[in-house]
Amino acid sequence: MKITYQNKKKRILLELLSISIGIFGVCLFFIGGGFSSMLPASVEVTETTTTVTTTAPTTTTTTLPAPTTSTTAAANHDSVKNESVHIDNVAPRRRVYLTFDDGPSKLTKDFLAVLKKHKVHGTFFVIDTKYDHELDNIFRSGHVIGLHSASHDYKDIYESTKSFWKDMDKIADIVKENTGQDAEIIRFPGGGSNTVSRKYSEGIMQRLVAQSEKRGLVYFDWNCDSGDTWFENGKPFSEKKILKNIKESVEKREDDIILLMHDRYDMTNTLEALPKIIKYFKKQGFVFDVLTKDTPPVRHKVVN
Ligand SMILES: [Zn+2]
Repeated sequence: MKITYQNKKKRILLELLSISIGIFGVCLFFIGGGFSSMLPASVEVTETTTTVTTTAPTTTTTTLPAPTTSTTAAANHDSVKNESVHIDNVAPRRRVYLTFDDGPSKLTKDFLAVLKKHKVHGTFFVIDTKYDHELDNIFRSGHVIGLHSASHDYKDIYESTKSFWKDMDKIADIVKENTGQDAEIIRFPGGGSNTVSRKYSEGIMQRLVAQSEKRGLVYFDWNCDSGDTWFENGKPFSEKKILKNIKESVEKREDDIILLMHDRYDMTNTLEALPKIIKYFKKQGFVFDVLTKDTPPVRHKVVN
């Protein structure tokens, strides 16, 4: 009796065990998604794995079945989270307009190479130089060309409004010849707030501002000077000093930045600083843009 009872107990245990294994197997089948496709679980797992590696993070999180993909889904979730944190940091996005005056020069091609490498565009306020052939390169690279004067000679251009526009028409023609485009924006040499013009003609800046509007030309000054034409202890600002100067100026403001730099033959410090300047603005979440006649202008107070 004892032996029979033990055998019976063993048999019942074995049956319970096999039923449990069966239920467990069915559960695994359903969890693996086999029900929907009626394919063997192993095939489905392979397909799932393929989906994980090829689908964009945002969609995988909702479609992936557990448990083989949970690690990937978690990783994707993290990356999505990081992305949203990044967006939070940069909103609202300020704009930066990199502007280069006094070119083209022997350095223009190098400036263009840096801008290309970092996939950003700038605005070049040009004068008449022996590097006029670079104007087409500037334009074809997707940058905007504005007029800055042909001669950049204060004595000549600010002698009278007539001589100013004669000089401006000259650079406008040069730009048109080289790029096939009519420039729509200008920057006065010395800026709209210059006082040097007073030496040659009292009140000329006010007259030029009014006349530029009549001609359909929009003029821009700047609200951040890189300082690349500044000197300290008889030496031009170094690359480091330029970067520091920009950072200090940008941190003081909360608006869009029109940054003044120079594409002049001797601006090697600016050229050296430019990759770091771009990286700085990118890190701060700025959107890079070019000036057009529709850009809200930044203008200094006209004092002559
Ligand atoms: Zn200039």
